[in-house]
Amino acid sequence: MKIDQIIRSNRRSIRLEIHPDGRLVVRAPHTATAAQIHALVARKADWIAKSRAKVASRSGDLKPKAFTPGERFWYLGEQYPLQLTGRQRPPLDLDGAFLLSRAAQSRAKEVFIAWYREETREITQNFIDSYSRQHGFKVNAVRITSARTRWGSCSGRNNLNFTYRLSMAPLEVIEYVVVHELAHLKVRNHSKDFWRVVAQLKPDYQTNRQWLKQNGMRLTLE
Ligand SMILES: [Zn+2]
Repeated sequence: MKIDQIIRSNRRSIRLEIHPDGRLVVRAPHTATAAQIHALVARKADWIAKSRAKVASRSGDLKPKAFTPGERFWYLGEQYPLQLTGRQRPPLDLDGAFLLSRAAQSRAKEVFIAWYREETREITQNFIDSYSRQHGFKVNAVRITSARTRWGSCSGRNNLNFTYRLSMAPLEVIEYVVVHELAHLKVRNHSKDFWRVVAQLKPDYQTNRQWLKQNGMRLTLE
């Protein structure tokens, strides 16, 4: 069985991970030999096959959205099915399901993006306000972008940018992304000092970061 990546660290045991794209990643101690790693992978062949099948069955949401009824869309870490309605305004509403006006179906993607954009703006602004009050951050402006791979960024002029896709993630994860960008107001790089600031603001940030790494690619309309 092919191993896609081996990540060595100070851990004590060997761990296998199947990523959302089906890759087999092995986390191994520095001391583990290639023979030990391959023996474990061979022993776990059944588990690997089952996990890959599970990942593949979930990967329906890796296809570009067609905006057809029953298709599921993310909001705050949950997925809700799409329903078409005769009601016109607002063209999109969330009430146990995403209710999209039939009249808006032809421009559904635009409508969804506008909706996520508004949600992301409000949620990120709330976190920025509350952290700024407590910790004295001075944010110049907040922009909501259409970035595909970056969740957020921080410019030299203290402008914070977040992609509209962020409101698809759990609230905790959004909070981490905001904290991450706020921390860049103090430390511009990703040095140890930077992560220390992040940890002071949100001690459990590593769980959120891990969630994004594992699920982030599923949070998309494309
Ligand atoms: Zn960063």
